[in-house]
Amino acid sequence: MTSLLWFRDDLRLTDHAALAAAAADPEGAVALYVLDEMSPETRPLGGAAKWWLHESLTALSSALAELGIPLVLRRGAAEQVVREVASARAIDRVLWNRRYGAERAIDARLKVRLRASGVTATSYRGGLLFEPWAVRTGSGGHYRVYSPFWRACLGAPAPAEPLAAPGALTPRATRLASELSVGLASDPLADWCLQPTSPNWAAGLATRWVPGEAAALAQLERFLATRARDYAANRDFPALDTGSELSPYMRWGEISPRTVWHAALGAAADHGVDVGVFLSELGWREFAWHTAFHAGAAEAARAADATDATDAAGGANTAGSTAPAVVLPGTALHERELNPQFDAFPWRATTEAELAAWQRGETGFGLVDAGMRELRATGFMHNRVRMVAASFLTKNLLANWRVGEAWFWDTLVDADAASNPFNWQWVAGCGADAAPYFRVFNPETQQQKFDPEGAYVERFAPHSVMLPQLVDLRETRVRALAAYDTVRNAP
Ligand code: FAD
Repeated sequence: MTSLLWFRDDLRLTDHAALAAAAADPEGAVALYVLDEMSPETRPLGGAAKWWLHESLTALSSALAELGIPLVLRRGAAEQVVREVASARAIDRVLWNRRYGAERAIDARLKVRLRASGVTATSYRGGLLFEPWAVRTGSGGHYRVYSPFWRACLGAPAPAEPLAAPGALTPRATRLASELSVGLASDPLADWCLQPTSPNWAAGLATRWVPGEAAALAQLERFLATRARDYAANRDFPALDTGSELSPYMRWGEISPRTVWHAALGAAADHGVDVGVFLSELGWREFAWHTAFHAGAAEAARAADATDATDAAGGANTAGSTAPAVVLPGTALHERELNPQFDAFPWRATTEAELAAWQRGETGFGLVDAGMRELRATGFMHNRVRMVAASFLTKNLLANWRVGEAWFWDTLVDADAASNPFNWQWVAGCGADAAPYFRVFNPETQQQKFDPEGAYVERFAPHSVMLPQLVDLRETRVRALAAYDTVRNAP
């Protein structure tokens, strides 16, 4: 048996079920990463995400080399590339960890085609704590409100213990893997041009972040030993640096949520750290992904006919899976309104100057400006400030949430296909269990409450106080509420 291990958003060795299976192959295994910007189901990466991916693949390639597994890099439509690589080296089986967004249609089609050509295709549990089809309401539907969703998760069988990283391959398997990779041309990573050059705007990202699994595990350990103690009390105060800052690592699967979950429970048991609020934040990530999974399911089920559903549904070939029958993904979350009432919402076409002021952190509102500057400088923004900045764009400027979502997609190192559009719709008042539309964050009050000393604003946007304010908060709030009334009162 020769194995091809296909890495996607799971760039790690620990708690990687597909890797554990491939590494046990006595005939050796080759790993593959495909940069897929061609399939209709994949969303081209933003700039900050590309920078992270370059660093992450560099780290993964070294870690795999130590195990004796070569990493092949290819660019193209994944469905085609995986089959080409498999047939070029007479691969017997292809393994991967599941994904839960629109791309799972690719995996489902690929499974059918690989199997038709005599290649075994096996998928394993992916980057969620709970499989989306396993968390069901009493009537068999899926949850649309967070609290009962999270209660159901907490009442479900606990997430599995993370798997240890595999040991190095045997000398024989290493030799076979090396022979297997000969003749499998791999793109030089530099040829993908993932990193910016002129200008190199990523210097601030490199100062703040060290991508890769080793850094992710160290970050988790540091968080649990320090910030976790006061997390519940301090998490809304951006100047206090209280978050785990694990989101980019989880976005790229450099650490699995199961690893985070069990480590947090370990800190609670061993050191009495109260991790309930922290775990419930992981619950929001989970809720965003489950929402994304189910959002397209109904329309996709109608479209599904000839295609095998095992990956689309979650890989029914995996032991213990109770995945539903045919369910294929439909439209990705960033392309659809979760609340169809908002299809007719009268969003405003913002002027270029307004949008530029928001993007550059020149609105004259300190908290918004500091957040937008933190984002540009470091690829990250504190959660409370994300909410305020997003509310400012969608309510005070009345811009379609898609405009802001696209900017975050391009600039966040943790830009995530579920969490980003989910949270934008949540703030804009049109998402799942969303903040009510009439809740318009007042950036001045928010600053007084969550940055009372002005330390965060001083760190990122000391200039803001000198700027004229872009909008009148009271007038734009009234305008937003009037716009909302038009859809609320629509027949
Ligand atoms: P912590 O407070 O330490 O939380 C632990 C983990 O829980 C995070 O790493 C993250 O994985 C998860 N989490 C926390 N809050 C949320 C949330 N509201 N939704 C989903 N998961 C959450 N998060 C992303 O990972 N990617 C995104 O693209 C993204 N876009 C966002 C856009 C907007 C408009 C808003 C309001 C929020 C967005 N978030 C996104 C959620 C949240 O802001 C970040 O997850 C959080 O700031 C990351 O910091 P942390 O790792 O220190 O989080």
